[in-house]
Amino acid sequence: MLKKFIALPLAALLLAGSVISASADNIGKTSVQIKTVNFTKVSSKKIKLKWSDGKDPMVKTYLLQRYNASSKKWTTIAKINSDGKKGNNTYSYTDVLSSSAPQQYKYRVNVKVSNSDMYKAVNGVSAYASNIKVCIDPGHFAGKNGGTYGYFEGDATLKIALEMRDLLKKEGIGTYLTRTDGNITVGGQTNVDDGNQLGARAKTAKANKCDMFLSVHTNANNANANGRDTVNQPNNLNKTVIFVNYAAYSRGANSPVVIAANKAGGYLTSVNKQLGIPTNAWQGLKSGKPYTYCTTVANETVETDAFIAYNDKVKQKGRVIFRSLNTRSSDYYAVLRTATVEGVPGMLIEHSYHTVPAFCKKFMSTKYVAKYYALADAKAIGQGYGFKTLSKLP
Ligand SMILES: [Zn+2]
Repeated sequence: MLKKFIALPLAALLLAGSVISASADNIGKTSVQIKTVNFTKVSSKKIKLKWSDGKDPMVKTYLLQRYNASSKKWTTIAKINSDGKKGNNTYSYTDVLSSSAPQQYKYRVNVKVSNSDMYKAVNGVSAYASNIKVCIDPGHFAGKNGGTYGYFEGDATLKIALEMRDLLKKEGIGTYLTRTDGNITVGGQTNVDDGNQLGARAKTAKANKCDMFLSVHTNANNANANGRDTVNQPNNLNKTVIFVNYAAYSRGANSPVVIAANKAGGYLTSVNKQLGIPTNAWQGLKSGKPYTYCTTVANETVETDAFIAYNDKVKQKGRVIFRSLNTRSSDYYAVLRTATVEGVPGMLIEHSYHTVPAFCKKFMSTKYVAKYYALADAKAIGQGYGFKTLSKLP
């Protein structure tokens, strides 16, 4: 062991001889690197980038740069001089885009140092940003809708939503959450799951400039619960069910939310399978085919009878559903209906069934169920907008 400790510095000295001319200028200098650049969607054509002034004394100028994926080049889009004093301001710059189409970019902040004898500039750490923002609505509130093994839907939906917020940020997608803890206060009410409060949840999507509304849920599955078509539904049926609202449905199969919904269905089916959660997603699973959830688009099933839940049939393959109330343009679910009225395309994902004990047991015994559901959703959302996604599925 002693030999090794001696050998290392010797080797380092010998090696240094060959590279010393290149790095001599930097010996003993403090590296200056901006590691975090945050983003906010200002509008569909404006992204605001922000970073800390913590390095101010060492920085002369900040260079905000944007990466062009097609030319593979970084371009400086703003130069901002440091005031030399840290702690008195935060730097920001609003990037104005050439169009309002969904766009994802990488940004970083490089620096010119204030004293090149003392400091050395290192390229900033890049981060994705975009002009897309998603309203995540963790269904219900703490303690609502109990399953077995201590599972509550209102607690699980928050866990999934918080994970998803972090993952979407990595993809450069902004988020607004209708709640970030066990309680929800909107529409002048706290923790009331009525039409007024559900509508108020959706209204926050528009108010916060969101491009998509996503309500996170798990389903209940009592025989008879969904009316005559599900009267023979077994209590162990477990299948991801995704409803898009009319605002999404009417935009067609190639619109971001419908693409995302279809992808999420497939990914969640795959995740349930990988986690060992029994699923009746569809026959493809049994036959060993890929875990395809949907071969169809959202407009295949249009329900005009509110009491029929076709998708709960055991033998029907998974698909994205638009479920209407009385008229075709009126969504069955209040939360989705209001999102439509507000002009925000959205979806409600029933990730699994909390009436299925095997699901509850798994969810409560490992953090990975919430994590992987969030991964599936985040990846699907990024792909819906044609973005590069960072999330890897298990
Ligand atoms: Zn629910």
